[in-house]
Amino acid sequence: MVDVSCRNKHAMNQKITSQQARLAALYEVSSQLGASLDLSEVLNQVMDAIIKLTGAERGFLMLFDDVNGRLRIMAARNVDQKTIDETSMQISRTVVERTTTMGESILTNNAQEDERFAEQQSVIGYQLRSIMCAPLRARGRIIGAAYVDNRLFTGVFQQEDLDLLSAFANQAAIAIENARLFTQTDQALDRRVQELSLFQRIDQQLNKSLDLNRVLSLALDWSLTHTGAQGGSIGLIERSEETGAPTLKLLIHKGSHELTADTLVPATHPTLSQVLQTKKSIFSANVKAEQAIDGFRAAEQLAVPILREGQIIGLITLESEHRGAIDAEDVAFVERLADRTAVALENSRLYEQIKAANKAKSEFISLVTHELRLPMTTIKGYTDLMLSGMGGELNDQQKQFLEVIRRNLERMSRLIGDLADINRIEAGKMKFENKAFFIQDVVADVVEGMQKAIASRQQNLTVNVPDSLPAVYADPARINQVISNLLSNAHKYTSEHGSIRVSAELNGSCVRIAVTDNGLGISAEDQKRLFTQFFRADTREVRAQQGWGLGLSIVKKIVEAQGGEITFTSELGKGSQFAFTLPLAKA
Ligand code: ADP
Repeated sequence: MVDVSCRNKHAMNQKITSQQARLAALYEVSSQLGASLDLSEVLNQVMDAIIKLTGAERGFLMLFDDVNGRLRIMAARNVDQKTIDETSMQISRTVVERTTTMGESILTNNAQEDERFAEQQSVIGYQLRSIMCAPLRARGRIIGAAYVDNRLFTGVFQQEDLDLLSAFANQAAIAIENARLFTQTDQALDRRVQELSLFQRIDQQLNKSLDLNRVLSLALDWSLTHTGAQGGSIGLIERSEETGAPTLKLLIHKGSHELTADTLVPATHPTLSQVLQTKKSIFSANVKAEQAIDGFRAAEQLAVPILREGQIIGLITLESEHRGAIDAEDVAFVERLADRTAVALENSRLYEQIKAANKAKSEFISLVTHELRLPMTTIKGYTDLMLSGMGGELNDQQKQFLEVIRRNLERMSRLIGDLADINRIEAGKMKFENKAFFIQDVVADVVEGMQKAIASRQQNLTVNVPDSLPAVYADPARINQVISNLLSNAHKYTSEHGSIRVSAELNGSCVRIAVTDNGLGISAEDQKRLFTQFFRADTREVRAQQGWGLGLSIVKKIVEAQGGEITFTSELGKGSQFAFTLPLAKA
């Protein structure tokens, strides 16, 4: 009796010790879990821990693939902790299947004779004997399985080993799932960042171009580079003027075959009609002959509408000759690209409209100025003739009337001249006859012409232009126009007895010419709008002077067209200075 109880006690002690050892091992491997969020690192940790805990000959970790739902072996080890290569991954599919579908842990100590598996091909073929398999369960679902086996020996694993594997598998599954979620989020974020920086480049290119064909060509290029498609086309929807019926006009085409320009696709075309109806992208994995947009059949086709304010304005069609080339990410990419293309197309359409309106305006101005010049020359001729007395003796009042006519004619002629200049500048047709000349001469000419007007308001004009200044390179007639304008403004917007100064100095490789006055000055608010066409300060003093608000905008364009720069400083009530530079002739 004593003997037996002693033996029992000894066996019990042994059992307790080995259980303690197992728990200690479980504690050790579990405490290492969760330290990393890198999926492959976690999988390797788990795999090593399983081999260590069970002492199995081989171990496998399997996870369900998110995309196709199939089990994939993610890590595999031999007892010596070496990774097993593909060819020796012979495992019992039946055991794994049972574990993952029923969610039960399985232990078999002689698979060859276990009636549950004995007849299975894999068990016989791979000569599997001792097997343990536990499900990996996380967030209430089975995400995979942990599988260990020993091929040659029977009876290697005990129920305690299976308990240990199951306990560990539960913790390991959570660590794996966390790492997987983290990696997925991390990858998704990475993809998003990459896509955003790509779209930034695309936006820059698209927005830079206002040319319709270039926008379409860029959009198609980007679509092809970033998807698995080999060819495609972009077209715009045109509507019949009578019926309003839509047709797709293919404008850009890229691919292995040539396409005649401006191919028309009728609304009855199966892909087009579906897109027109649903206003959604259509992906066909099995393209039928009649679905080919450009007449050439491909294996896959993606058609993405370009929408503006909910209306389809165009269609991007991509085609691939192989199956599986275009995926869900490609669709999302092209849809985002289509949104951007719509904006760029709208910009280019508005630009075209503005260009057309501008052209119409220019044509109108050029017609009007031409038509007005002719009768004005005649009126001026006869006025001068009558004033000269050739038409007979005039009394003082008649002379006075004719002077009024002549002054107003000059005013009209200035306006017509300014309008014609603006027209020429805008059309890029202003001609400059550049040559080397001395600015001193031009200043002297202008001052001479203005002297009478300045004297009439008893303004004090000083000219400070050194004779030693080197020659500049520009069109002297145009520079005369610039200085006349600035001096005329200084004269108009400075009260009687005010002071005006014209000065010039050498400034690096330029000559800087300045016209300074102590007149009305310009408010900070008005300064923002200076140089814009038709701007005039809204004050009584300014409006009392003749003007159209065109002079400064012309001056700025003339100066800049000749490589110079115009600047100003002004203070309301104190005065203004307008200055511009001209390049030196020898520079
Ligand atoms: P205009 O003299 O025919 O009105 P400009 O384009 O030459 O046209 O000038 C635009 C406006 O700028 C003027 O109406 C005036 O309000 C302001 N301005 C220009 N030069 C001066 C100046 N020297 N002093 C004060 N205001 C000025």
